[in-house]
Amino acid sequence: MSDLNQQMIDKYKGNFLAEVVDNVEEGETMKMCMQCGVCSGSCPLGDAWEHPPQKLFMMIRAGKREAVLSTDSMWNCTSCYNCIARCPRGVQITHIMHGLAHYSKKLGLAPKGQQTEKFSQLFWDNLVKKGRVNELKLGLSLYFMNGFGNGVKVAMKNQKLGMAMMKAKRMSPMEMFGGHGIKDPSGLQKMLKKAQELEDARIRGKEA
Ligand code: SF4
Ligand code: SF4
Repeated sequence: MSDLNQQMIDKYKGNFLAEVVDNVEEGETMKMCMQCGVCSGSCPLGDAWEHPPQKLFMMIRAGKREAVLSTDSMWNCTSCYNCIARCPRGVQITHIMHGLAHYSKKLGLAPKGQQTEKFSQLFWDNLVKKGRVNELKLGLSLYFMNGFGNGVKVAMKNQKLGMAMMKAKRMSPMEMFGGHGIKDPSGLQKMLKKAQELEDARIRGKEA
């Protein structure tokens, strides 16, 4: 168990709703939920999820902390915004789904091997390095994210697509040797650091 996870357990003493309100993006809007089920009924992935949004919210209120934070349900959200558009109480469901996923990762509770989680980390690492996505390296790391053998199979299967992208100049083999980036990547790093500080201060303000 991570230190941060234990700190949060000690701090909130079973009040998981308060923990979500303090630490998850738009978590406070969850208090408005009246369990009508419209969000789950509107979600194109509702049937495929272990816990669709309305059920997740019920579990949060019931204090089922571990079950919520270790499920991969929120990682399946595609940000289609159907749920938000239809929720009669203005609950910011999409943001909460992504906020819960982020929080579970921060605590070290995200399910191991979850594909969206793996890809989002690869995307982020790729993007922040130079401020622009290196499509070639991102594509390769995506192919090989489940091991070398599987990567070779996926790369072979998609080789026509890769060649077509290069032909159409949507991807360049030269990206392998550094690739393009923004003028001031260190400025970007500073902005991200500042944004993280502001976010931490916002959360501390909520907790106070
Ligand atoms: S649609 Fe809104 S009020 Fe209804 S269950 Fe979903 S979040 Fe709650
Ligand atoms: S935004 Fe996410 S939770 Fe909402 S309906 Fe779309 S996939 Fe489902």
